[in-house]
Amino acid sequence: MSDIWHMLSEEERLFCDVLERIVKERIAPRAAETDESAAFVHEQLATLAEAGMLGANLPEEHGGSGVSALALLRAVEIVAGGCGSTASALTAHYLATDAILIGGTDTQKAEWLPKAATSHMLGAFALTEPTAGSDPADMRTRAVRSGDGWHLKGNKCFISNGGVADFIVVFAVTDPDARHRGISAFLLPKGTPGFEAGPPERTMGLKGGHVFSLSLDCHLPDTALVGEAGQGFKTAMQVLDNGRVEVAAQCIGMAQAALDAAKDYAKERVIGGEALSDKQGIRWMLADMALELQAARLMALDAARQRSLGHRFSKAAAMAKLKASEVADMVADTALQIHGGYGYTRDFPIERITRDLRIMRIYEGSSEIQRNIIAGHLLAH
Ligand SMILES: Cc1cc2nc3c(=O)[nH]c(=O)nc-3n(C[C@H](O)[C@H](O)[C@H](O)COP(=O)(O)OP(=O)(O)OC[C@H]3O[C@@H](n4cnc5c(N)ncnc54)[C@H](O)[C@@H]3O)c2cc1C
Repeated sequence: MSDIWHMLSEEERLFCDVLERIVKERIAPRAAETDESAAFVHEQLATLAEAGMLGANLPEEHGGSGVSALALLRAVEIVAGGCGSTASALTAHYLATDAILIGGTDTQKAEWLPKAATSHMLGAFALTEPTAGSDPADMRTRAVRSGDGWHLKGNKCFISNGGVADFIVVFAVTDPDARHRGISAFLLPKGTPGFEAGPPERTMGLKGGHVFSLSLDCHLPDTALVGEAGQGFKTAMQVLDNGRVEVAAQCIGMAQAALDAAKDYAKERVIGGEALSDKQGIRWMLADMALELQAARLMALDAARQRSLGHRFSKAAAMAKLKASEVADMVADTALQIHGGYGYTRDFPIERITRDLRIMRIYEGSSEIQRNIIAGHLLAH
């Protein structure tokens, strides 16, 4: 464990140590096979549920682990270092439970969060639509009053866990004239009539963490409305602030695995009678990878620290996600270069890590959108 993590409490360090052992013994060894088979990471998530990870983003009063935002960052990093697909499915689950925690009523929190935190009950977060990705306020899914509840109609796409989840937090327009202030969130349990998920998308990476298109034509009771009508967009943006720190954690975990693999390979590979790790060009590559990775980790720690203070931290979250996702791509690409031709084969994990990382610059707001957020904050003051 890097010195940086000594800032965690003793209890949190123990939580992370136990998790690290579980990931090393039971999750990381399955990462290559999961990538090849593209089977959803059900068993890996069940293993993480035993370790308290399905509720690591939730306070103890709602059945969660109650760890700090800093420990959560470290924990997601550990999972991602072992298997990117598992970390992605896990953090998509956090988006769903965070939405209930942030926007839900006391009754919804009591009914859903303890189950989602302690048993293997998976959530999904459905914001993106075929014509509304970077600009979710332009969504077309509508929810209209119908009898004692709501009629929800529309389509979502690229929803992680969407076809396998036990519940989905779905965002829909309830007041078309109010633009983002007319968006509301709804809790949709699995098996709701009128809900259908397509087959998993055939993605470049994260093959064990499936994404789905969803078709919705459902009647929901009034109790399905998460919090109040018109609050959905605000809830989604707060959830994404948390989510972006978790994306940064995924990037850092996978990039650390790439750096470790490159370091080991450079020590073993002998070219012209000399180990790669003795060549200055390779040593400088390794140094730059470690340098940038540490910068990304410190920015993520700053965002996590701001998260723990309980106020909005959108700029810090955007910076952490942008930096970590761009650094992680650079680190993985350099690690692959150090592996030479072998890095381009499926015989070494670096090929999978490189593919798994590529989405990080796109989902939960692309790098361009993070720059827009940062510039918006800069120019507002
Ligand atoms: C594996 C995976 C998992 C996902 N999981 C989820 C999930 O669980 N829940 C969910 O709701 N969504 C999810 N998504 C969707 C994801 O968040 C969107 O794909 C992402 O927000 C980008 O939207 P888009 O694909 O529609 O791209 P577009 O919005 O069409 O953007 C295309 C390009 O244009 C750029 N662009 C757009 N607007 C601007 C601008 N104003 N200035 C400069 N450049 C701009 C973008 O940066 C991008 O490069 C997932 C996607 C994938 C692939």
